[in-house]
Formats: sequence, structure tokens, C-alpha cells
Amino acid sequence: MVTLTEPRVLQKLDGPPWDIDAYLKVGGYEAWKKCVRELSPEQVVQELKASGLRGRGGAGFPTGVKWDKVLNHRVKEHYFVCNAGEHEPGTFKDRHLLKTAPHQLIEGCLIASHTAQAKASFIYVNHEYEEERENLKRALAQAKERGFVGKNILGSGIDIDLQVFEGHGSYVAGEETAMLESMQGRPAMPRQKPPFYPTDFGLYGKPTLVNNVETLCNIPRILYKGAQWFTQVGTEKCPGTMMFSLSGAVNRPGVYEMPMGITIRQLIETCGGGVPGGRKIKAVFPGGPAFSMITADQLDLAMDFDSLKKAGTGLGSAGVIVVDDATCMVRQTLKFSNFFKGESCGQCPPCRMGTINLANLMTKIEAGEGTQKDLDSLLQLCGFVKGTGYCTLVTGASVLVQSSVKLFRHEFEEHIRLHRCPYPAAPVDTTV
Ligand code: NAD
Repeated sequence: MVTLTEPRVLQKLDGPPWDIDAYLKVGGYEAWKKCVRELSPEQVVQELKASGLRGRGGAGFPTGVKWDKVLNHRVKEHYFVCNAGEHEPGTFKDRHLLKTAPHQLIEGCLIASHTAQAKASFIYVNHEYEEERENLKRALAQAKERGFVGKNILGSGIDIDLQVFEGHGSYVAGEETAMLESMQGRPAMPRQKPPFYPTDFGLYGKPTLVNNVETLCNIPRILYKGAQWFTQVGTEKCPGTMMFSLSGAVNRPGVYEMPMGITIRQLIETCGGGVPGGRKIKAVFPGGPAFSMITADQLDLAMDFDSLKKAGTGLGSAGVIVVDDATCMVRQTLKFSNFFKGESCGQCPPCRMGTINLANLMTKIEAGEGTQKDLDSLLQLCGFVKGTGYCTLVTGASVLVQSSVKLFRHEFEEHIRLHRCPYPAAPVDTTV
């Protein structure tokens, strides 16, 4: 049984989430006051580096290093963007934070913007998150009223105009460079990274600090309580907690804040209340559909960036999807293949053609119309397109299929042999 008291990122508030007084009662905006009055941007960066905080958007890049790069860039015109363009299937933790901790996010954004010495600052919110955006705007209006945002903040002479930007509702638009493109009125298409990391070439071609919602929610707590406090939970290389989005075959789906390094089993049993109907776990996507699945004999793997990478998969943005033994893995895989096909922006030919052809082959096999040659072509295609493209979409689409065939090849072969799906019929859900 894993329980979590402190340290934790999410604060229990005695009042609605947008109510600034409820947030002030739990030490809200204290870290921001400290930054305004005492700490230099360099000291903030040092504290972040000491905390070992890593980006919670999916890649685990060290936050302090990123902030340092922007702060000390030779080009002095900087921007700040909070990326709330969440769109990964099975990931809904940023949505939860926008809903439950808007002031904490605003405080994190103010600290980030000031530390990066940003000329303009934005919170880019997924177009579909309408209620959350309104919640955030309501909280922001209160923070402005109390003098935490705007001109001459708390009499310090610091000006920060933090704006909520209504973004696209597409998967690719959540990729940071595509997001920046779309914010400048251009199609939401990724740039090639490297060389176009936003720290060097961001909004308007200037150094830009881009951070995920959850990463930013960690910042006020780290600066208020200290780096040492933050490292009390988690692993040595992945300190702190993670907001796990748990969905699929569990009794209690939801968002759970748990220490980095919790095992998949603990997460499913303690938080999710196990699998419904006494069914068994067949597979788990520990980091959403773009990372390899794990099987029931790997449930004791630790959920952190390094342990999952070592095991050949990844934590990503911790969208944990549990699949039970009543599920057809070919159908499950097809559902995500269709998602990737629908979300490819079409900019890179291998991605445009690759995602379409992968989904077509998967459709044929799922319908019982596939051949052994189709299965071989499927794997060959994965090998061709993996690692191509400006963003990771087509790589994710191929990792998904490779992982499914590797672990559940017998199910693909059964579809081919029987000329039908051996599982009870169910319409293929193309929405995710
Ligand atoms: P990435 O590894 O390219 O970069 C991670 C972050 O570190 C980025 O902000 C990047 O700019 C920065 N960075 C990396 N190297 C840098 C360098 N040398 N200098 C300066 N900055 C550097 O990963 P990514 O393509 O941004 O993200 C991929 C991850 O996003 C995947 O692992 C996936 O899990 C996740 N993802 C999340 C969602 C979601 O909705 N949360 C959606 C799709 C994908």
C-alpha cells in the first residue's frame, strides 16, 4: 500500500479552485512574493537544478537546465509559454490541474516568466478544454486584482501580462514547436528539433521557455518549501511525484498524484482498485499508446522515466492505460493506429503515408482479410518510418504496432488463420 502525505504538489483547498483566498491560505503566492522581493533569477535556477525536477510533458528534460538556457541566452528578447495543449490518448492530468489548481499554475507561470525575463507570457490551452480555460481566466482575473499579475507587481516595478491563449484541439498542436507556429498564425506543424529547440528559436524566432502544466505546478512548491523537501519522494534521478492519468480496465479511473517510482501494480491496485469483474490484466500502456506495452509479468516495474526506458518502454506523460484479458489486442491497436492516422499533420511524407498505410494494414488484418504477407509488410513499414518525421508521431505509431505484434503475435495470426476476429464482435472505435 502506497500512501502519500507530503511532499505533494496538489494542495487541498478549502474553497473552489479559482478562489484566491483558498489558495493564499495554503501558502499560495508566497514563492512568487519571494521571487519578486528576494530571489534573483539565477538563484531560482539554482534551486530548480538542486531539486532535480524533470519536465512532466513526456520527455523528462531537466527543468533547471532549460530555464538556464533561456535566462543566459545571448539573444535578450525572451518569451514564455505554458503548454496546456494536452492531447495524448489516456492523458488527462493537465486538464485536472487546470480544473483543480489554476492559481498554482498561474504562480508557476509568473515565476517562470520572471526568471526567463520574458517580454510576453502565454498559457496555451487546448481548444477542447473550454470549462478549464474559463476556470483559469477567472483565477487569473483574481490574481490581477490582488496585484500578483499585471503592472508594477506588488510595488516591485516588475510587469507581467500573462495571457490565456486558446489553442488548437489537435494532437500535433501540442508538440511545442507546432504550438509556437500556430500561435504565430501559421499551420500547426512541428519544426525540426534539433536545431529548432524553443530555448534557441521559439516564439518569433526568439529564445522561449516552454513548460508543461504539471512541471509549472511543481515550481511554487519547490521554491516555497525548498529543493530538499521536494527530493524526499521519488527516485534519486526522478525526484518528486507524478500525476498519473489512469484509465482503461480499472475500477477507479482518474488522476492520481503518486511518488515517481511507484510500481505499475501499486498504481493499478491501490489507486485504481484493481480490474473490474475479476478479469486479468493482459497489457498496460505505461506511457500512452506511443510507447511499448508491458505485460502482466512486468507489473512490478517502477514508474519513472529511467526505469521504464531501461525496460524498453517509457513513462511519457504518464497516461497509463490498462487492458484486460477480454480485449482483442488487434482491435485495440487498430483503434490507436486510426488515431495516429487522423492526427498526422501531413507535413512529413513518411508520417503522412506511413500512418495511413499502417492503419490500412491493421484494418485489413482486424477484419480477417489479412495475409501473412500483410503482417510482414506491417512490420517492414514500421521499420521504414520509425524515427523519421520532425516530431515523434510516426515513431509512436510504429512503436505501437511493433510492440503489439511482438507481444501478441498469436492474436494477429489467429485473425489471419480464422479470417475473422476471434473475440466477440464490437464496432471499431475510431475515436480515442
Ligand atoms: P524532446 O525530448 O524533444 O524534448 C523535451 C523538452 O526538452 C522540450 O521542451 C525540448 O525543447 C527540450 N530540449 C530537449 N533537448 C534540448 C536541448 N538540447 N536544448 C534545449 N532544450 C532541449 O521531446 P518532445 O518532442 O518535446 O516531447 C516528446 C514527448 O511528449 C513524448 O515522450 C510524449 O510522451 C510526449 N507527448 C505528450 C503529449 C501530451 O498530451 N502531454 C502529447 C504528445 C506527446
